[in-house]
Amino acid sequence: MSGRPRPKRVLLKLSGEALIGSQAFGIDDGTVRRFAEEIAAVRNAGTELALVIGGGNIFRGMAIAAQGGDRVTGDHMGMLATVMNALAVEAALERLGIAARAMSAIEMPSICETYIHRRAAWHMDEGRVVVLAGGTGNPFFTTDSGAALRALELECDALLKGTQVDGVYSADPRLHPDAKLYDQVTFKEVIEKGLAVMDTAAFALARDNGLPIIVFNIHEPRALARIIAGEPVGTLVSDDGLG
Ligand code: UDP
Repeated sequence: MSGRPRPKRVLLKLSGEALIGSQAFGIDDGTVRRFAEEIAAVRNAGTELALVIGGGNIFRGMAIAAQGGDRVTGDHMGMLATVMNALAVEAALERLGIAARAMSAIEMPSICETYIHRRAAWHMDEGRVVVLAGGTGNPFFTTDSGAALRALELECDALLKGTQVDGVYSADPRLHPDAKLYDQVTFKEVIEKGLAVMDTAAFALARDNGLPIIVFNIHEPRALARIIAGEPVGTLVSDDGLG
C-alpha cells in the first residue's frame, strides 16, 4: 500500500526553468515536446488537467528589482514571459492531438483567452487541457502562488509541482549529497523542519485549504503517469501525510 491518492483532476505546475532544456535561455522545442507527450499520455488516460506555466527561463521580476529597477514593471514583464511559454506548451499539445486552451490572467484577447474561472472549469470538464499563463495576474506573486490558487479554484485533487530534484529533502541535495528524500510529510512538518516546498504564500494557501502537493522530478520519464496511478513518486505534502 502506497497510501497515495489517485488524483483524477490535477494542476501541474511547470516552471519556466524546466523548458530551457540544454539551452542557456528560452524555450527548447524538444523539451517542450517531451513534456507535452507526458501530459498527453495522462490526458488520453482520462485525467483532467490544468497547467500553470512559469516564466523564469525568460524573465523574473526580481532581476529588474535587483538592479534597482521597478519591481512592479519587472513582474509585469515576468508575467508576459509566462504567456510565451504557455503558447509554446499549448501548441505542442495540439500538435499531439490534445485539445488545449491557453488562458491568461492578464487580458490579451487577440492572443489567447482570458482566465475566467467558470470557463476554465468548463474547458476541463470538456476534456481540454487549460494552460494557465500570467500566474495570479498580480505583481509580488509567483507562478507557484498562481498554481495553488488555480488548483483550489478549479477543484483539483492535487497540485503536482514539477521540480529539478526528486522531491522534498531534509536539506538541499545539490549541496548535501546525504540529504534524506521524504516520501510523505505533513504541512506542519514542513514548517517545523524548515523544508523548502514552495514559496511561503503558495504554501500557506495550500496548507490553509488542505490542498495536497506532490513534489516530483519533472525530468523523470513517466513520473506524471505514475503519480496519477497512485504510485509513490516524489514527496506527498498533505494534512495527514496520506492525502
Ligand atoms: N509573476 C508575477 N505574478 C504572478 C506570477 C508571476 O508577478 O502571479 C512574475 C514574477 O516576476 C516572476 C515571473 O513572473 O518572477 C515568472 O514567474 P516565476 O518566477 O514564478 O516562474 P518559474 O520560476 O516557475 O519559472
